[in-house]
Amino acid sequence: MERILRINMTDRTAIYEDVPETYKERAGRWLTSSIIHDEVPATCHPLGPNNKLVFSPGIVTGTSSPTSSRISVGGKSPLTGGIKEANAGTGWARRLANLGIRALVVDGQATDGFWLVKITCDGATFEPADAWTGEKLSAVYPTVFDKHDGVETVDICSIGVAGEHKMPAAGICFNDQNGRPSRYAGRGGLGAVMGSKGLKFIVVDSKGAPGITPSNQEVFDGGRKKMAAALTEHAITKPEGALNSYGTAVLVNIINEVGGLPTNNFRYGRFDGAAKIAGEAIFEGNKERTGSTLYNHACSPGCIIRCSNTWHREDGTEHTSCIEYESAWALGANCGIDNLDQVAELNQLCNDYGLDTIEIGGTIAVAMEGGLAEFGDGERAIELLHEIGQGTPLGKMLGAGAVVTGKTLGVARVPAVKGQNMPAYEPRAIKGIGMTYAISTMGADHTSGYTIAPEILGVSGKLDPLNPDKAELARNFQYATAFIDTTGHCLFIAFAILDIASGFEGMIEECNGMLGTAWTADDVGRIGKEILDMERAFNQQAGFTPADDRLPEFMIYEKLPPHDVTWDIADSELDKVFGG
Ligand code: SF4
Repeated sequence: MERILRINMTDRTAIYEDVPETYKERAGRWLTSSIIHDEVPATCHPLGPNNKLVFSPGIVTGTSSPTSSRISVGGKSPLTGGIKEANAGTGWARRLANLGIRALVVDGQATDGFWLVKITCDGATFEPADAWTGEKLSAVYPTVFDKHDGVETVDICSIGVAGEHKMPAAGICFNDQNGRPSRYAGRGGLGAVMGSKGLKFIVVDSKGAPGITPSNQEVFDGGRKKMAAALTEHAITKPEGALNSYGTAVLVNIINEVGGLPTNNFRYGRFDGAAKIAGEAIFEGNKERTGSTLYNHACSPGCIIRCSNTWHREDGTEHTSCIEYESAWALGANCGIDNLDQVAELNQLCNDYGLDTIEIGGTIAVAMEGGLAEFGDGERAIELLHEIGQGTPLGKMLGAGAVVTGKTLGVARVPAVKGQNMPAYEPRAIKGIGMTYAISTMGADHTSGYTIAPEILGVSGKLDPLNPDKAELARNFQYATAFIDTTGHCLFIAFAILDIASGFEGMIEECNGMLGTAWTADDVGRIGKEILDMERAFNQQAGFTPADDRLPEFMIYEKLPPHDVTWDIADSELDKVFGG
């Protein structure tokens, strides 16, 4: 039977509870947001003792369902001041699910240094972790693995020095299948929340775990097969397809072509150096430096899509993994940097210090605008990253994110919503994603509702990105995304299931097979709405109003080349998306 494990860091105790009846169908984002909504005072300080950090594997995580090893992490965000859900693909999620833990809730605060929690079939144990603080995660992870029987036996969740310093740009790190500390629940500063609790590592050992079994194996298997077939067939998700060959960075050239690649702190929509940092350049560069054609790998067990890349130095040794589209853009185009080795070094420093690449790339760009560096100066950007890693006063300002850095340096052009820097799509040139940024409960976040699929990629139809009539699209994508985040599937299944109806059916049947429910397509919208309503209610109680559902002023008066477009969607239209 699945249970909730509660860890109190104040007195270092751990107790198991049965999953309450009201939560019996909930997992992933539905459960993390439910627990935050129900248990965390919305007005509490995100780094104080009343905030909680919640981890939950999805409904099908831990099963043979493809591309489903996601862990959802929830808490009140120190970056936005609202509710936050971030998720990552990692074997850690699978081990937690196989131990029968539907949710792990971290409460309280240690006042005597940092701690490692180890979770096994026998419960949770605590050990001091101060000896591992202040170091790069790539140096620390091997020793933690060695002490706990290796990557075959355990997976590790942790914070880096950014989380130790409680910086709002700190993410929560998980290892990939090769043990690299490289997979992040990055956004919203949940690494700072973990740091505020004195929690450095959560090691999960699933030896002897009971595993999880579907309520109805036949229904589950039918759904799983439909899902696998859709992922294997679709051009974007299939083996040696777009994502497997070039990773998510395949988007650099595509988004640049449509004039939506934010460049030099959202000053332009096209970057002259785009081709040099694109997925194709990563693929060709690796081939030249390693002598082999490297297709990408899976970040977590059971992924069919396998979109995660690596980058190699000139001598053929591995430099970093993974350079996602968002990271190539944030640390590249948005800072005017077109040198892939410098982008790779910045990416690796974010991995090592425990930072969200999107927030940090956005922050460095704002710092460049504020005079701390020239756009395009990759070496200076690397120096600034080291300031964060060393926890200097300058580093702490940068680690606090783009809004704080902009205020400190007197920069008016800060591309943030609800305190969170925008991701890699220009809202003036792609209106639907702009609506998503504005109204998302998470602050500016593309993964809240990835309207890029129809607006740019022609998935589930093709829409004009400059057409502002996107309210229904933005709403429905947010509902569907909240459901996918609940299943435990990676969001990238969306390409296949939006185009292939049987894949969408398969997702629902998998859930029905696991839970014994009889959900239909209507329930996807119903559950998504329920999740969004809860998150919006939390944010309202925290003090958010419709005035927070807005894009920054400079986007209204400043034309974006090459299309010379402004943000021209009326506030009243934004307020209509969720019914005011
Ligand atoms: S599609 Fe990519 S990010 Fe998603 S689970 Fe697979 S390898 Fe990880």
